[in-house]
Amino acid sequence: MKSPEPVAVIGAGILGACVGWNLSRLGAQAIFVDAGQPGEGVTNWSFSWVNASNKTVRRSYFDLNVAGMAAYRELADAIGPGSWWHPSGHLRWADDPAQLLETADLLARWDYRVELRTGAEVRRHLEPGLAIPDEVPVAFYPDEAWVHGRRLVSRLVRGAGAEHRFGMAVLGIDADGSGWTVSLTDGTRLQVAAVVNAAGPSASHIAGLISRHLPMRREPGVVTRVSCPRAPVQRAMHAPHVEIRPDGNDSVVLHSREVDALIGEDPAALAGRLQEAARYVVPELGDSRIAQTRVVERPIPIDGFPSVGAGPSAPGYYEAVSHSGITLGPVIGRLLASEIVTGERSELLADFRPERFL
Ligand SMILES: Cc1cc2nc3c(=O)[nH]c(=O)nc-3n(C[C@H](O)[C@H](O)[C@H](O)COP(=O)(O)OP(=O)(O)OC[C@H]3O[C@@H](n4cnc5c(N)ncnc54)[C@H](O)[C@@H]3O)c2cc1C
Repeated sequence: MKSPEPVAVIGAGILGACVGWNLSRLGAQAIFVDAGQPGEGVTNWSFSWVNASNKTVRRSYFDLNVAGMAAYRELADAIGPGSWWHPSGHLRWADDPAQLLETADLLARWDYRVELRTGAEVRRHLEPGLAIPDEVPVAFYPDEAWVHGRRLVSRLVRGAGAEHRFGMAVLGIDADGSGWTVSLTDGTRLQVAAVVNAAGPSASHIAGLISRHLPMRREPGVVTRVSCPRAPVQRAMHAPHVEIRPDGNDSVVLHSREVDALIGEDPAALAGRLQEAARYVVPELGDSRIAQTRVVERPIPIDGFPSVGAGPSAPGYYEAVSHSGITLGPVIGRLLASEIVTGERSELLADFRPERFL
């Protein structure tokens, strides 16, 4: 692609924002398009934990997530850390510690930093507000982090300095010889050299507009924000039955796979379950107030892995679709922008290319 020709980035969540920001850095002209406002999709309803410790299912996927963690540190150097970046590590403990210790051991063999502590040590040195048994083993992952997704997206979109169309959905994408015409709900027609499908849970629909079948899973999650006089935890953590992280000075985010399994119940009841599980771990959360709850779809291709790169048999069509998109956004953004501008395909993405779905 010749760099001055525009690239329409469809979706300004974490993935689209990272692709667009990197395109601008490489001198390409990005145009962000979003049906809503930047960062207000799944990115705003994520647990937002930056990690590779939960990605041991396949070595190449683990390696991509480790690269994602490194890309965050580079991004924080490039744009400044501000209020979006929280590299405070991550804590995990479990009712049955055997699996936790086995995973910690595997990760240590893969040169991933993990420190084993006791509950008492964690309370003394890291999180005084936890009700955690003294002797329980806790894995502390010092290189992990959490990010404030919406704030990061807004920094990247502003930093890209690119044209944008927000509050307008893409209705059609038509090949027009040398490129694509992207039609929006207000009647605008954008002539572009390339399109990036970064539409999160709607990526399958966007792919369908060019007659591509991108099979995706249905795997909803429920996230609750509680407000409290001051956040009683300093970092993200997986306790038994609930995940907890700060979301600012007076707000905490709660999530649990066990509560996800109950989606279908009234969301207020789901939020109550999350709050109840959390106050058991952090008693101070007993004084919190449920502020917002949302059930959202995870953007997951059918085999559970990202779909990133040039689409098969549609020159100028690219995908950036992934679960773990918070962790992977900066590395996917860098690699995909480079592929769009130079045509070079990174080995890191070899197992995650769109052509596996034909
Ligand atoms: C409960 C839960 C917990 C999670 N926890 C983590 C975690 O701890 N760590 C981690 O790394 N990942 C986590 N994830 C996954 C991560 O949040 C997502 O992978 C990531 O936010 C996806 O970002 P995105 O940019 O692809 O999607 P989105 O943020 O949803 O952005 C897509 C954008 O596309 C726009 N759009 C859609 N259709 C159209 C259209 N037709 N026209 C124009 N625009 C359109 C939408 O408005 C939206 O803004 C979690 C997800 C969930 C649901």
